[in-house]
Amino acid sequence: MQSAEAIKATIEAMLCPVHDIYPSVYIVGNEIDIACCCPAFYETCTEQAKKMLSDDDLSDAIIVFG
Ligand SMILES: [Zn+2]
Repeated sequence: MQSAEAIKATIEAMLCPVHDIYPSVYIVGNEIDIACCCPAFYETCTEQAKKMLSDDDLSDAIIVFG
């Protein structure tokens, strides 16, 4: 089972291959807010978050573009 904090840590460890910038992830209630440098890398981050969410009980979490 993945906690929201584990998802945050995983996403924040991902590096944009284009810009060399790490995203910032904020957990607010059951929302995961990902702030990142470009839409393409945002897609990569949300795919990873969704993959982790699908394994656990956070499937109600809402992913919001920050
Ligand atoms: Zn980028």
